[in-house]
Amino acid sequence: MKSVRVPLSLQQAVMRTMRQKLALASDFLQKAFPEPSVTYQQRGTIAGSARLQDWEIRLNPVLLIENQQAFINQVIPHELAHLLVYYQFGKVAPHGKEWRFLMETVLKVPANRTHQFPVNSVRSKIFTYACHCQQHELTIRQHNKVIKGKSCYVCRQCGEKLILLEPT
Ligand SMILES: [Zn+2]
Ligand SMILES: [Zn+2]
Repeated sequence: MKSVRVPLSLQQAVMRTMRQKLALASDFLQKAFPEPSVTYQQRGTIAGSARLQDWEIRLNPVLLIENQQAFINQVIPHELAHLLVYYQFGKVAPHGKEWRFLMETVLKVPANRTHQFPVNSVRSKIFTYACHCQQHELTIRQHNKVIKGKSCYVCRQCGEKLILLEPT
C-alpha cells in the first residue's frame, strides 16, 4: 500500500493543537499527562483512532491533507479525549458521558461522534449501474461478482437487470 507523506508544517500544526488541548486538560484535571505519539497510518474513511494502551493517536493522512486545520481542530481533541478518558476512568463506553465531559467541559469543543469530511478520495471505489428507472451504486465486491458472472443484480422497482454505466 502506498504511504502518504504529511508535510512537516502540517505535522507541526497537529502537535501545536495537541499541546494546547493537553495543557487545557492538565489545568482542569490538575495532572501532567504524557504527550501521545502521533502516527499517520489510519486508512479508509476513518479520520483517526486512539490506541489506548500505546498512548498513541493514529491520523488519516489523506483526510488531514485535504482538510488541514479543520481536521486538526476536530480530530485531535476527539482522539485525545479517548486517551484522557482511558487515563482518568479506565475502560468505559467510547463516546459515553465521560468522553462528552472531556470534550465539552475540559477541551471546549463540540462532542461530535463522527466527522463530516468528504470521503470521495478515501472511499473504496463505487460503480454506477443503471436500469430503466434509476441509477444504482454497487460496491467493488458486487461489481466483481457481476464481472465474474457470479451475480446478476435486478432493480427492485422496475425488475430490469442492472447495466454498468461507463465512467464519463
Ligand atoms: Zn471516537
Ligand atoms: Zn429500475
